[in-house]
Amino acid sequence: MTLPRLPPTQLVDGVLAGDRTVLARAITLVESTRPEDQPLAKDVLAKVLEHTGQARRVGITGVPGVGKSTFIEALGMQLLGAGHRVAVLAVDPSSSISGGSILGDKTRMTRLAADPRAFIRPSPSAASLGGVTRRTRESMLLCEAAGYDVVLIETVGVGQSETAVAGMVDFFLVLQLAGAGDQLQGIKRGLMELADVVAINKADGGNVDRAERARQDFESALHFLRPRYSGWNARAVAVSGLTGDGLPELWQLVESHAATLAGSGELQALRREQARKWMWDLVEDRLMGALREHPAVQTRLPDVERRVLDGEITAAAAADQLLMLFNEDIPDS
Ligand code: GDP
Repeated sequence: MTLPRLPPTQLVDGVLAGDRTVLARAITLVESTRPEDQPLAKDVLAKVLEHTGQARRVGITGVPGVGKSTFIEALGMQLLGAGHRVAVLAVDPSSSISGGSILGDKTRMTRLAADPRAFIRPSPSAASLGGVTRRTRESMLLCEAAGYDVVLIETVGVGQSETAVAGMVDFFLVLQLAGAGDQLQGIKRGLMELADVVAINKADGGNVDRAERARQDFESALHFLRPRYSGWNARAVAVSGLTGDGLPELWQLVESHAATLAGSGELQALRREQARKWMWDLVEDRLMGALREHPAVQTRLPDVERRVLDGEITAAAAADQLLMLFNEDIPDS
């Protein structure tokens, strides 16, 4: 059942008052793909914008089974205990790729979900990673406006989703498991460069020594990478989401990373650069949307695609044809 849309002032006031029900409805609005919702969504976002930007924005990635939900629940509960308010968002384009969602399971993080100081939102379903990331960015801003001072954005790393999440947070955490033998083989190329911290998870019970060896391997590998910031070298730590060991120390790193980057001006520069990139993501997203919905393009598309498939025309010629149809409606300036 779709609830009727609330008027913008009610949405804005409710979000700013930290009302979780209104926040959820505001997020539903920005996630909406209905064209008639877009002006209202933009209006609400514009009105809350000045109340955003104060949160610690932390991205967390790791393969399924690495212990993300256990870890986020433990870290989240610890942060609530320290007086923070925690929002957890997910970027999971797997639903559009495989038809099934990896992070959508409602039974995850039950303690955190039940706590009124926390807010958990599963990944929006959308046709593309671009669509999912746009909506997650906007949801993050709404959460900040609602007073959440920690926003954790979780991803499983399907497609390019780690890069997308790393591009919207201040701090990027990669969860890993201690493997047998060569520790570094299990990590995707490029992921190390995105990490501010690599955490070897499940460092508990009989696994503590193996985790420590893995931590040392990662730490020395990270040492060879060019630092992304002047005062910050990526680190490797050992943690356990199950016992909570290492979590306070890990959060200390998040805090000192934030202080270092804020002190050097790099945090502001990072966020400015993210905003510039975001603008281009939006342009891309909207242009593609407009192209797909263009009546002449829609009419001709099946035939043009078929001719490319049959090898009758080249992909380049087909792209020219589609763009020509699209451009016909754009007035010359
Ligand atoms: P996710 O798929 O990355 O969200 O992983 P889950 O949090 O669902 O955990 C996957 C499995 O690993 C579950 O059986 C958990 O009980 C177990 N697990 C998660 N964290 C830990 C940990 O810190 N130590 C140990 N020993 N097991 C863990």
